[in-house]
Amino acid sequence: NKQVILKDYVIGSPKESDMFVTTGTIQLKLPHGSNGVLVKTLYLSCDPYMRGRMKKPLLPSFVPPFEPGKPLSGYGVAKVLDSTHPEYKEGDLVWGTTGWEEYSLIVAPVVLFKIEHTDVPLSYYTGILGMPGVTAYAGFFEICSPKKGEYVYVSAASGAVGQLVGQLAKSAGCYVVGSAGSKEKVDLLKNKFGFDEAFNYKEEPDLDAALKRYFPEGIDIYFENVGGKMLDAVLLNMRIHGRISVCGMISQYNIENPEGVHNLMMIIGKRVRMEGFVAGDYYHMYTKYLELVIPLIKEGKIIYIEDIAEGLESAPGALVGIFSGRNVGKQLVVVARE
Ligand code: NDP
Repeated sequence: NKQVILKDYVIGSPKESDMFVTTGTIQLKLPHGSNGVLVKTLYLSCDPYMRGRMKKPLLPSFVPPFEPGKPLSGYGVAKVLDSTHPEYKEGDLVWGTTGWEEYSLIVAPVVLFKIEHTDVPLSYYTGILGMPGVTAYAGFFEICSPKKGEYVYVSAASGAVGQLVGQLAKSAGCYVVGSAGSKEKVDLLKNKFGFDEAFNYKEEPDLDAALKRYFPEGIDIYFENVGGKMLDAVLLNMRIHGRISVCGMISQYNIENPEGVHNLMMIIGKRVRMEGFVAGDYYHMYTKYLELVIPLIKEGKIIYIEDIAEGLESAPGALVGIFSGRNVGKQLVVVARE
């Protein structure tokens, strides 16, 4: 059973060498009365929140840390090979939390969703039809309460969550601008995902001036993925009664002492509502979300771009790549295709 193991807790930017791939053994029979499933991993999802799990825990977090010497775990798509759990049976395709290994024994709590729609790419269940999809949907519609004609700004806009937020915002009749870290990504935003405007934040020496250029009347909704200097610049450009959906702050994940936010006071006079959220709190909306998004995918009205790494050996590199922006679209790893 090939596995991706965390060597030790990580300080600073994660490196491929913080993990290694080895062959371990796995018990192929579920313990009697275990209420679990044995799965074969098909696809693994590389997600920014995994960086927090590589840290030596100082504060309690909503997800437990990884254990050095043990395989990583995260979201993935898998096939059930054996089950003592009443809700799953052999042959079921599922997505949810699984080990970064070829075969994984998952015992309670089993957080797996059964995959009912197989006429769309199975890998989409790591992205648009999985956790990042729910994140974009709930984070945009539930937290931002968008109205037609509003000005929306999305950072890390070409990524797993951002590309979808932009397209959902367009479908809600908003004016949407996205930022990303390369020309290739900016082209995708404008020419593939239908953003009204896009810019490369790395080429903007003054983010405040850039935002003023793209939003001369200010921003109604900011979908926050990066934090730091970008958030500070956005706070200077919010409109009255604006909303900021705080999804993530990836620019801060590898810093031991996160940067302070200087312009937070702007939220008073502008009556801005800023709200953080966690995708897992919205899984009750998953079925409703699928009913909306699957027809849009099939009709080609929503496009989803993936960055696919082949083989479990490529998983450490794929995971660290998302922290330097190497991924173009949703980063995932193919472990097996069936
Ligand atoms: P992405 O697919 O967008 O990958 C991460 C991207 O972030 C990179 O490609 C890079 O794009 C950008 N990035 C990396 N480092 C920096 C930096 N220092 N400054 C600015 N941008 C950076 O990831 P996701 O779409 O999966 O996640 C986006 C955000 O959403 C993250 O903050 C994540 O933690 C958060 N999230 C939150 C969830 C929740 O429940 N609250 C659930 C899922 C995700 P670029 O080239 O543009 O720099």
